[in-house]
Amino acid sequence: MLSYRHSFHAGNHADVVKHIVEMLIIENLKQKEKGFYYLDTHSGVGRYRLFSEEAEKTAEFREGIARLWERDDLPEEVQRYINMIKKLNYGGKELRYYAGSPLIAAQMLRTQDRGSLTELHPADYPILRNNFKEFHNIMVKRDDGFQQLKATLPPKERRGLVLIDPPYEMKEDYDLVVNAIEEGYKRFATGIYAIWYPVVLRQQTKRMVKGLKDTGIRKILQIELAVRPDSDQRGMTASGMIVINPPWQLEAQMKKILPYLVNVLVPEGTGSWSVNWITPE
Ligand code: SAM
Repeated sequence: MLSYRHSFHAGNHADVVKHIVEMLIIENLKQKEKGFYYLDTHSGVGRYRLFSEEAEKTAEFREGIARLWERDDLPEEVQRYINMIKKLNYGGKELRYYAGSPLIAAQMLRTQDRGSLTELHPADYPILRNNFKEFHNIMVKRDDGFQQLKATLPPKERRGLVLIDPPYEMKEDYDLVVNAIEEGYKRFATGIYAIWYPVVLRQQTKRMVKGLKDTGIRKILQIELAVRPDSDQRGMTASGMIVINPPWQLEAQMKKILPYLVNVLVPEGTGSWSVNWITPE
């Protein structure tokens, strides 16, 4: 069952946090001249029109990226992220397009770096492939993203980022993430892994966190932004990124950025943030 389409959600508060974390990790990887590998297991289409029927229907971006768009007090890291989105909007004033995780990466990759994108949806895959046909160091596959950790790790570069961003429309995704991490880590223990997660029912998130903890893997950081307190009603109240082997600056960067993001993205005052080690060094 593949009913999830990211175009309904592009640019929402969860994308903002996810893509800032992604950018910060890639910036860190670029501090070394040596090339790295970027694997995006659940890519979506990579580029979104915010004035499409889908995006306008939910208008989630209005409570996400749109709240940052015209501010002049952005923390420097958030400014760099906004600059990337501005570039995609031809430097224009109007926010019309939003970048998915593959395009954030593609804008940052150097010639010595390599990317691999996977998307399973029969309608989204051809759009993704078309959006990246000009990028010679990026490969696009129609395949199960979870399998890519087995199939492509370790990368020949021996350094890189694996971004895992499933829709979680099937409860199994929570367990599949833990299994994929175990498989990937066995092959590539020095890699950086970034897992996006929603908080819909806190119990499901807790189970996944416990599963990751039980793998015995060290250095797992959890970053979260909530727009509302946990609830047993339908809907996402918070989202976050779990990062294995995070660059050492990431914890401090996110502790600086998140209070700002909570204030600006959740002016209603119901938001909160946290940065915690699931398992320290
Ligand atoms: N990572 C994207 C971004 O940040 O722009 C968003 C990805 S979206 C949350 C999840 C995507 O995974 C959807 O486009 C969906 O079609 C795709 N998908 C679902 N199951 C998959 C699987 N097993 N392998 C690869 N892609 C899958």
